[in-house]
Amino acid sequence: MPELPEVETIRAQLAPRLEGRTLTRVEILDPRLTRPYDLFEVAEELEGDRVEAVERRGKYLVLRLQRGLALLIHLRMTGSFGFTPATHERAVLDLDDGSRLAYRDVRRFGTWLVLESADVEPYLSAKNGVEPLGARFTVAWVASRLAARRAPLKAVLLDQRVVAGLGNIYADEALWRARANPLRAANDLVPEEVARVHRAIRAALRAGIERQGSTLRDYAAPDGAEGSMQDEFRVYGRDGEPCPRCGTTISKTRVGGRGTWFCPRCQPLTADVLR
Ligand SMILES: [Zn+2]
Repeated sequence: MPELPEVETIRAQLAPRLEGRTLTRVEILDPRLTRPYDLFEVAEELEGDRVEAVERRGKYLVLRLQRGLALLIHLRMTGSFGFTPATHERAVLDLDDGSRLAYRDVRRFGTWLVLESADVEPYLSAKNGVEPLGARFTVAWVASRLAARRAPLKAVLLDQRVVAGLGNIYADEALWRARANPLRAANDLVPEEVARVHRAIRAALRAGIERQGSTLRDYAAPDGAEGSMQDEFRVYGRDGEPCPRCGTTISKTRVGGRGTWFCPRCQPLTADVLR
């Protein structure tokens, strides 16, 4: 599932190709993409409009359109974009420069939603906390979110209202960087640990963006190039391999039903205020 770094990579590649372009023809091929709204109605709303900006909020892509509408795209499990024809196309945007942008989605969990621009911020704010790479994502903000929850630390961090855009991969990578155990009760962290978690979330996401995201199974960036973050994972998917920091064998467990990788030595289950 694409997380913040993957969606940001897609945004950065789509923006120069889409901004200023008119959608001369919009074809939506899968009714699941726009439900509960009719796919023909949505296509008609988009057709002929011009893309002003391609933005990202959490894991959402937001296409701002000239006539005052916005298209919110969530890629979910397997949504992706490409400028060359491919299998599993669920929508096609023809642009006024002659290019053809296809939206592909093998598992069909992705969503396209058209909103009036005034409704965009309320809609996204209800589902997403502050942006983790923005100025409002402070240690105090993370502390206030964690203090309210007794659930496992990782489960709380995966809540999009706590850390917008963070998913299973970067949560594991961030917790390894922070030397925090994913199963710790969120409200059990001492201030020093909260500060480490805050810093580690930013570092893990920035590392992902720098490497153009990770390429796993069905994800690929619009230009067809593959991200390289998967080669840089410190713990994610690496059970049985040595921890890059201490050499201890990386363990795998489950948190909230999600596969979770951690170093049992660097990330102990008890508070480690003395480190
Ligand atoms: Zn270790």
